[in-house]
Amino acid sequence: MWHRMWFWRVWLLVLPVIAQVSEPRAVIQSIQNYIVYYGEGRAEELRAYDLAIVQPETLTEMEITDLHNAGILLVAYLSVGEAEPDREWFERVDVDWLLGENTNWGSYFVDTREVGWQDLMVEIGGGILARGYDGLLLDTVDTADLFPETAPGMIALIQQLRQAYPDALLIANRGFGIVSEIPGVVDAVMFEDLSTTYNFETNQYEALEPKVEVVEQLIKLRDQTGLVILALDYAAPGDQAAAQRAVEIARSYGFIPAVSVISLEDLPDYKLVECVATPSDMEGPYYIANAPFKESLYPEGTPGQRLTISGTVYTAGCAGVLAGAEVDVWQADSTGVYDFSDQFLGRGRVLTDANGRYTFETVLPGLYQPRPRHIHFRVYHPDAGVLITQLYFEGSVSGAPDEQTIALEQDGDTLRGTFNIVLGP
Ligand code: FE
Repeated sequence: MWHRMWFWRVWLLVLPVIAQVSEPRAVIQSIQNYIVYYGEGRAEELRAYDLAIVQPETLTEMEITDLHNAGILLVAYLSVGEAEPDREWFERVDVDWLLGENTNWGSYFVDTREVGWQDLMVEIGGGILARGYDGLLLDTVDTADLFPETAPGMIALIQQLRQAYPDALLIANRGFGIVSEIPGVVDAVMFEDLSTTYNFETNQYEALEPKVEVVEQLIKLRDQTGLVILALDYAAPGDQAAAQRAVEIARSYGFIPAVSVISLEDLPDYKLVECVATPSDMEGPYYIANAPFKESLYPEGTPGQRLTISGTVYTAGCAGVLAGAEVDVWQADSTGVYDFSDQFLGRGRVLTDANGRYTFETVLPGLYQPRPRHIHFRVYHPDAGVLITQLYFEGSVSGAPDEQTIALEQDGDTLRGTFNIVLGP
């Protein structure tokens, strides 16, 4: 009996590893980030992402092999609803298949009910996959919305791609209506402009509030079909704050974030692709359990610089947010002294809201030798366990990791800072 159990245990350890190497369709379910890159020459930097979406000619054979060996999912672009004159296969497109010109891009809408076009797409897609790509980004699926009579053709085309390439990743760029009609056929949908956009008239990047209807439609689609939702936002090169905001908003809905420049021909330099578990830190001797629930740790008029800390509590890998997580904080006052009275000054608990957000108001903790300024956190959620850690501030030398160190901004009389917390491994 022992031998058998041992045998099965070994297999249980080995199997997931095999699955990860050989099944991109399973791996995409657990990615944390991705990028869309249509430029050339920076293939090496795609290693920083779990999934890279590129043009078929973006990568050399050697780059494809190298990235594969590094475990990166590689997906190449294919326009299935519009014929692009600059593709080498354009000469094989019959003019009778075309419905009109898309004057924005100089491409042509295709009647996807044409069997010749369906066959051509299956062939071209197969050629791309044969070069070593894991899958295809199906662009211009929305041609079926513009010409509703062609929707059955688009559905047939995507089903044929799935039948011909059962192991390939198929990612739709939008095409929500079509995708919802063929559950299980497509692995992910990508969409642009969740929380940012690019204004082509003013040539400016702009922040948006997420559109509730779109978000709800996508969450419903994901819940019904198990699709991975890929959000693509745009931010000006170097605008770290805008990029960070876009990433946080996407993650708050459980979407996988990417931020790039509007041309998609450059790679952003933002260091936001990582989702690192917040490190634990010493509890120290001054914790008192069962502090009251309160959002203000000290009454108005307490000496010291007013400070507001807020943030989001994420699950492991930032795949989702934790609603109802208990954030228990304690700290020294502005003179570096802890309170042990029944007033619980500098102590309190708050719960995260439905979006995993918490906030509390306090005063900037003082120094007590030899410690730098810090706030203690004990974060708990029944699904994710407990994290005991400390928060530090930029400019106060602590030697603490970046994940525990935040910047503060002056807002009137108050300083504000954001401390996002990732629970779990
Ligand atoms: Fe302390």
